[in-house]
Amino acid sequence: MSSLGKLTVLTGPSGVGKGTIVKRILEKYSDVWLSISATTRKPRQGEIDQKHYFFLDVKEFKKVIDRGGFLEWAVFANNFYGTPKDLVEEKINKGINVLLEIELEGARQVRKSFPQGLQIFLAPPNLSELEKRIRGRGTDSEESIIQRLDIAKKELIAKKEFDAVIINEDIDNAFYKIERLMGLIL
Ligand code: 5GP
Repeated sequence: MSSLGKLTVLTGPSGVGKGTIVKRILEKYSDVWLSISATTRKPRQGEIDQKHYFFLDVKEFKKVIDRGGFLEWAVFANNFYGTPKDLVEEKINKGINVLLEIELEGARQVRKSFPQGLQIFLAPPNLSELEKRIRGRGTDSEESIIQRLDIAKKELIAKKEFDAVIINEDIDNAFYKIERLMGLIL
């Protein structure tokens, strides 16, 4: 029997740089599979359905909840987000390493169902740097920025629950540490 794939969860406040790290991992390691989440959030400019997210309306999302189709799901900044269960299980059973880029509540749920998974928290050097990054991204409304910063403060308190906390002061250094944690390099 082939061995199971490893599950890695990458969590951290919105704007901290999770997306950049994930992009780098996928570019460098073709054998890591990123789960595509479902969300009820409206697509941002340039986001493509089924590539960046499965964009669902609330009714569709709730149907998936009801049939137990999510490995985890959570409400973040007034929108639903969830990880489709079937594909993740299929990849793991095939021995493929799976990466989830999700928020705190979802990470907590996955910790219960996959206690053997690796849970990494990516933290900003400080809150003002995080605010600068979210604003610099230019993708969120003022209301959304304030909401995301407010959530970030709460999420940062929970970082001690994680197997590892990586401070994203320098992206190359953070990436290197995550590669090592995931066992991608020695
Ligand atoms: P964004 O709206 O910026 O794309 O994502 C907002 C937050 O939702 C981010 O922290 C992101 O990691 C998280 N997120 C994305 N997909 C999922 C998911 O499937 N489940 C959970 N719990 N969080 C998710």
